[in-house]
Amino acid sequence: MTASDQEDIGRPVASYLAPAPSGAVGVDLPVPGRALAIGAHPDDTDFGCGGTLAKWAAAGCVVTELVLTDGSKGSWDPTADRAELVALRREEQRAAAAALGAGSVVFLDHVDGELTSGLSERAEVCRVIREIRPDVVLGHDPWKRYRLHPDHRHAGFLAVEGIVAARDPHFYPEQGLDPHRPACLLLWEADEVDHVEGIEGFLDTKLAALLAHRSQWVSTMGIDADRTAEEEGFETRIRQRAAEAGAVAGLPIGEAFKRIDRL
Ligand SMILES: [Zn+2]
Repeated sequence: MTASDQEDIGRPVASYLAPAPSGAVGVDLPVPGRALAIGAHPDDTDFGCGGTLAKWAAAGCVVTELVLTDGSKGSWDPTADRAELVALRREEQRAAAAALGAGSVVFLDHVDGELTSGLSERAEVCRVIREIRPDVVLGHDPWKRYRLHPDHRHAGFLAVEGIVAARDPHFYPEQGLDPHRPACLLLWEADEVDHVEGIEGFLDTKLAALLAHRSQWVSTMGIDADRTAEEEGFETRIRQRAAEAGAVAGLPIGEAFKRIDRL
């Protein structure tokens, strides 16, 4: 590490971000150079921030999706072959990422339903953050109340704690990677929303990414593969959710987040 790198430690990335407005809901970050979205399962990042990622990718941002588990429990069919399901869900996630314009997907392949936020998992996320060097990280809000699924909670904590580790040089020096401090963390599924990204013009792209997860049509999305009406019902729900999120900030449609800048 050079002296000039050293000076970067402890500071947000350049002048990328102005301070968040106090007491008001912020709207639209400047387009980051690099963004990293961290989800528990294939499809989580597309649900949580697919419109935002598509918008940023279209504006030249290099987008990476990090999927922490293998998605091997994502079927209601008790006879499903889990190895086949894992392979299928990888393919679906890559197709979804391509639809969004995301540059790449990283899979950490923890067993679905058994994710924990321990030191070894934190090191793995830290490594990805140090390799990708994102200006903005997006993830599940680990503090969402009354959340049932443990993977989503642990994935949220791994995003938060992975950033803490990635920014500080004494965490995992054996990785041989320079520390990296993102400028901003956006948490989806937040109880306390204070930031909205407008996604006008990108909702269809988000829907295309979501529908790429065909193995989840029946279980997660309530779509019967042969019944177009139910697919429309799903689309209606997603559009409705985007309208509700946008309304928080006076926008037609959006995605809502808790924004944390003090990283
Ligand atoms: Zn999930």
